[in-house]
Amino acid sequence: MSHARLASALLALLTACRQPSPPPEKIEPEPPTPATTAATPTPGPRPGADAVPPVRKDGTVYAESELMGTRVSINVWVGPPDQADAAAAGQAIREAFAEMVRLEGIMSEWQPDSELSHLGDVAGGEPQRLSPELLEVLRRSREIAEDTGGAFDPTFHGVGQLWSFRPGAKPPSPEAIAAALSLVGWQHLELDPAAGTGRLAKPGMRLGLGAIGKGYAADVASALLARKGFPNHVVEVGGDTFAAGHKDGKPWMVGIQRPDGPGVVGAVPASDLAVVTSGDYQRFFEYEGKRYAHIIDPKTGWPVPAERSPKSVTLVAKTGTDADAYCTAVAVMGVDAGFAFAEAHEGLDVVIITQDDELRVTSGLRDVLVLPDPPAADAPSPAGSVDGERQLP
Ligand code: AMP
Ligand code: MG
Repeated sequence: MSHARLASALLALLTACRQPSPPPEKIEPEPPTPATTAATPTPGPRPGADAVPPVRKDGTVYAESELMGTRVSINVWVGPPDQADAAAAGQAIREAFAEMVRLEGIMSEWQPDSELSHLGDVAGGEPQRLSPELLEVLRRSREIAEDTGGAFDPTFHGVGQLWSFRPGAKPPSPEAIAAALSLVGWQHLELDPAAGTGRLAKPGMRLGLGAIGKGYAADVASALLARKGFPNHVVEVGGDTFAAGHKDGKPWMVGIQRPDGPGVVGAVPASDLAVVTSGDYQRFFEYEGKRYAHIIDPKTGWPVPAERSPKSVTLVAKTGTDADAYCTAVAVMGVDAGFAFAEAHEGLDVVIITQDDELRVTSGLRDVLVLPDPPAADAPSPAGSVDGERQLP
């Protein structure tokens, strides 16, 4: 079947809202009720802050909040509403949000008094004592930077700080970019885990954890929920999802957002898995007819060029931390190299949507990814089995 016919057939099916079988449990957040909004942590007590989110008909307790510059949601499966301890679940969710606020205070490159910012302020100087959380994220960042040949690199911020991706922004001058490139290089991030210290070797170096911090926060929140007695839950931090355990005996279904509008392209069944999406549509500006998106190639200091940039990468891995960082790395590598990297890498799988709306799916996901069923009459083979390629409807 031609791509065009397949595409229109799939579109018809999507439009008809036909659910795959078994129907996926949408984990897209529902609009918060007043009670769930009350679970939002803010500094100091707020009226209604102890309100208990209700147990929904499907046995979940859901709340969302705005933090880390993005929307965060937690959905806990607590079992049949009549047996559930909604108060305890609500309390655990509040604590998880509060923990993420604390992590943001340590790891934000946008808060001048964060531990991360301080490390940049004293770059070139003495090693600094680091909190265990920051040390852990930097240690894993360094490993993933090495593993991805520097495609993911937390020191990208030395040049990344020259860029703004707000609509109406302009690119920095090529001279400024070239000069700042000498400040980029994960090898110059020195860590001493035994001493609990870290250091940026060159004055002027800066760190940015925008490509790993959300995934790490999801992992930490998930561990906290499990410790509090709620092992079955989904934590979503601005599109980075960690799904733990199950929902009523079935895996959670995590939707893959369409790059070009509302709705999902498909869904990944996930149980103790992270599903993370990076996309060039998420933050960008246009200048003199060219599009500049927020993922930067640390080797050039420029956004990943459109010729190789995927529209989006969805990456599945065992932890949110890994999924977040590797997802950005695959986006930097580009469609072909990124796909080959993920295919060869044990424990990583991707769904890449190309600029031409082709879906490329690595072998580990082909049989599990839930896509809308093609029409019965001239059905092509199952999802993604044609060389792992499908066309986005
Ligand atoms: P994500 O949405 O996870 O792909 O992360 C994108 C964010 O990570 C950007 O907005 C930057 O803050 C940061 N970033 C951009 N390029 C890189 C890179 N090559 N390595 C590490 N972080 C990056
Ligand atoms: Mg990332």
